[in-house]
Amino acid sequence: MVKLCVLCSKNRAVLKRPKTAQQICQDCFYYVFETEIHNTITDAKLFKRGDNVAIGASGGKDSTVLAHVMKTLNDRYDYGLNMFLLSVDEGITGYRDDSLETVKRNQQQYDLPLKIVSYQQLYGWTMDEIVKEVGLKNNCTYCGVFRRQALDRGSVMLGVDHIVTGHNADDIAETILMNIFRGDVARLGRCTEIVTQGESMIRRSKPFKYTYEKEIVMYAYFKKLDYFSTECIYSPNAYRGHARTFLKDLEAIRPSAIIDIIHSGEAFEIKTGIKMPTQKTCERCGYMSSNDVCKACVLLEGLNRGLPQLGIGKESKVRKQIAESNQPDQPLPTIQHFSTIKRDNASPDMILPKDPALVHTPPPRVPTGIIDDQQKPTGKKDLSW
Ligand code: SF4
Ligand code: ZN
Repeated sequence: MVKLCVLCSKNRAVLKRPKTAQQICQDCFYYVFETEIHNTITDAKLFKRGDNVAIGASGGKDSTVLAHVMKTLNDRYDYGLNMFLLSVDEGITGYRDDSLETVKRNQQQYDLPLKIVSYQQLYGWTMDEIVKEVGLKNNCTYCGVFRRQALDRGSVMLGVDHIVTGHNADDIAETILMNIFRGDVARLGRCTEIVTQGESMIRRSKPFKYTYEKEIVMYAYFKKLDYFSTECIYSPNAYRGHARTFLKDLEAIRPSAIIDIIHSGEAFEIKTGIKMPTQKTCERCGYMSSNDVCKACVLLEGLNRGLPQLGIGKESKVRKQIAESNQPDQPLPTIQHFSTIKRDNASPDMILPKDPALVHTPPPRVPTGIIDDQQKPTGKKDLSW
């Protein structure tokens, strides 16, 4: 028997909505998915007309759907935004070089200018080289710290004042759980904020804050969006992995668990009088920092001195290690001072992608939760989530 969509009662239901378990048709799914994101944007007053906005684009499902939805909503509701794609090339052979090809195709599909900043260009090191030095244990610490700065630095080069990222509800719920497990009060307070702003005056926001990862995959699937779904080859992030497995188990029992955790995180109140880190400016590179020298500069110093464990432990231990390293005080390469970064007017408007046949692009995947698929898929089930 044909099941009708519970929202319009007209069309055939083709999917079971992961967030609400409602059986709905494709058009109603697009409508609720896009409208919820629009409501998130307007409720939080994320943008104002004329804003220059960079979409952090990795070529993965979240940022590809984000670029598509931002473009759709900007046109439909006339937000009046000037949008760009901003990508970070960490220098991971076989992963980021291929996913950047997807971003270059997205640039053409969505007609948005693209800027790519690389770790090699900013820090003098690629992730491939860093992993050779530090191994596969703390590599994501380096990568995460370097990426955060790279996005802000790329934004200055693009002349934008706002970065939107594809962090979804699952990512935020995982981060809340991780910060509770670690007892990290400072981060717990910040991680549920939809907009954050540092010294650099560049706002960062998460329009997908309440959007389920499973629905993002479904949207990409039905819209036939071009995204790259291979995992990073250096992805050992075990701690996040535990939080993720736990969250997926909770979601399987009760789908609202993800939103419930976010709402609980938002409701946390931090006792007054708790000492919180103060915001300073790094004395070397001018980036915001809670210490005199920012984490990126400390990590870079460790790499350049051949002491890759610097910056992984406590600050005092780091200083002691440097003092004991007995190295002559030769000047080491540093990161360009933030205040001297110039708007890069010469950045290319279009970067041509390679022929997709020459690039490893994974086959289209079929999400679970589809009850009546008219697209007659031939791909494999997507088990990546
Ligand atoms: Fe970087 Fe780790 Fe993510 Fe790979 S998994 S891109 S190394 S943070
Ligand atoms: Zn610094």
